[in-house]
Amino acid sequence: MNIEFDLIARHFSRPAPPGYLGVGDDCALFAVATGHHLATSTDLLVEGRHFFSNVDPAALGHKSLAVNLSDLAAMGAQPLACLLSLSLPDVNHDWLSAFADGFYALADEACCPLIGGDTTRSTSGIVISVTVMGQVRPEQALRRSAACVGDDIWVTGTLGAADIALRLLQKKLPADPTLLAATRQALEWPVPPWRFGQGLAGIAHAALDVSDGLAQDLGHILEASRCGAELDYAAFPVASALQGLDGQLVQSAVLSGGDVYQLCFTAAVSDKQRIQALADAASLQVTRIGQITAEPGLRIRAGAGGDLISLSRTGFDHFS
Ligand code: ADP
Ligand code: MG
Repeated sequence: MNIEFDLIARHFSRPAPPGYLGVGDDCALFAVATGHHLATSTDLLVEGRHFFSNVDPAALGHKSLAVNLSDLAAMGAQPLACLLSLSLPDVNHDWLSAFADGFYALADEACCPLIGGDTTRSTSGIVISVTVMGQVRPEQALRRSAACVGDDIWVTGTLGAADIALRLLQKKLPADPTLLAATRQALEWPVPPWRFGQGLAGIAHAALDVSDGLAQDLGHILEASRCGAELDYAAFPVASALQGLDGQLVQSAVLSGGDVYQLCFTAAVSDKQRIQALADAASLQVTRIGQITAEPGLRIRAGAGGDLISLSRTGFDHFS
């Protein structure tokens, strides 16, 4: 049998739910609910750039979908389906089987069935491209341009752990097996708040997923919304694994570390209780870290009314 068809049949042909035409035809088919628009996003993961060659393939399968689900969450969209394109230097069925298990487990959990893709041999490393599709009422979508002066700025989950794990694996920090064990899960198995993101539609104003560092990513909202922000660093939800580390190191991981896949969003002060209730229902931590201001620029204070912090590094640059 043709290697490509055999690979797809063995690893990527689990049946789609009723109502979907999934893997096997020239196009997949599914419906979008009346009054909704299709929300789409795609992300590329390149071996040696976005993941280490020896990463657990199940974690990689999980993460390739997770980084896309966080984009849907950041838009307030409900996941509907995804596509997976793989470019592989060779066919390793054990690796593919674990990758598929990680991918499908998250797809099932998020109700985001895999309905197609493309598979081809690569001449260098592994390249993974996932496209997600979801639905959202266009008037409720969480656009980057929708922040209002006076809005609270919120962040979900905790910050900093993924960056510390990455720096340990890159040997940019001295080896520390205990710290790596405590932070690695955040880097390799990120869990974007896709259900909570849907709940924010129609409530929150602007939102985005933190992928390249909170300070840099929030800057995109400030630019698109033509406003500024003042943040209180003392309020930040620092990952508990970072307790006891050098303050400058923690600050750099929290403010500029990427690979977070949590949401940063803005909402009216009057919606504070609604947002807290939504987060409680999803068993999710949410933290108010500051306020949107008319004065442009991002100011981060060491504590409320305290000194300004200047950033020692900016976020991740995909072309550096
Ligand atoms: P085409 O020649 O039309 O591009 P392919 O032979 O590439 O079709 O793929 C056959 C079927 O398998 C299509 O339905 C396609 O969407 C699906 N498919 C291919 N690769 C993948 C993959 N990695 N994951 C899921 N579905 C895939
Ligand atoms: Mg094809």
